[in-house]
Amino acid sequence: MDIIIVCHTEFGFVDNKKIIFDKKAFQGVEDGVINLIKLAKKYGAKITFAVCPEVADFFPKKIDQEVGLHIHPGWEEFKKNQFKWYVGDQYLKEHCKQSSFYSALQDHPYSEQLDMIKVGKECLKKSLGVEPKVFVAGRGSLNNDTIRALIENGFTHDCSAIANKKLPYFDWSKLPRICMPYRPSLEDYQKKGDLPILIVPASQVIFRRPITPESVPGYGISWFKVCFSEYYRQNVPLFHIFTHSPAMTDPYYFSVMDTFLFFISQHKYINFKFASEIKQYPKNNFKTDILSYLFTPNREIVKTVLRKLLN
Ligand SMILES: [Zn+2]
Repeated sequence: MDIIIVCHTEFGFVDNKKIIFDKKAFQGVEDGVINLIKLAKKYGAKITFAVCPEVADFFPKKIDQEVGLHIHPGWEEFKKNQFKWYVGDQYLKEHCKQSSFYSALQDHPYSEQLDMIKVGKECLKKSLGVEPKVFVAGRGSLNNDTIRALIENGFTHDCSAIANKKLPYFDWSKLPRICMPYRPSLEDYQKKGDLPILIVPASQVIFRRPITPESVPGYGISWFKVCFSEYYRQNVPLFHIFTHSPAMTDPYYFSVMDTFLFFISQHKYINFKFASEIKQYPKNNFKTDILSYLFTPNREIVKTVLRKLLN
């Protein structure tokens, strides 16, 4: 089984298990990246860092990990408790013409998406001396125009897909939950075709919760283990984890990632890879094994439900 870990690399800190993407919190990049690299080394894991242009100057130089591009277009205010922050990329805001402040790529015309991807790529090249091949869209949002713009800019892999799910700012509803990498078609990025780019969706537990440390407060570590075993038993060839760099500055999320990697490393035939090393696999139809989820005692979930009932 191939394992990839994709880290969305952005500013921020963690408050009460929630990431606050505050642009003044440089430690989200400076410390988060270094912490994750140290952890990866402990298990021989490889990390693909999807780096926002605005954080490029804060990203450590000369690392032996992969660098991809992460784009948050527009400029919109978000709030959580007492915190406020902007979703958008300061560098792209200053260097690209954007006709709206929308923070989802699907809401921007082709010409603007093409420009943002090109300018973002050049920025990473200038700052870090690498030419990114892997792309992650902010908020999981892209459309057929994005795929065209990525191919035009030489990208070979996209890791944005949140399979089997649709929200106002993205649509991945046509993909099955366990979805292996595929080449999209020109007419519909959610359908298989022959375009020269590979869409590599993230792994999920049932109920469409992603495999990321940041989701563990919701579903508990034992469901992560059941999910991994569900994939492993069926010989699913790829397990795709993602995280956000600010999470790796937080002791709780750091220890969750440590637990993920320790659990995975106990299995045979595990190959940690960079996202750009992933190719299409011959077999790609897999089933949800619902029984293993139902019969897994999950203290964390029971506790969460009880707490809600008692409050
Ligand atoms: Zn992001």
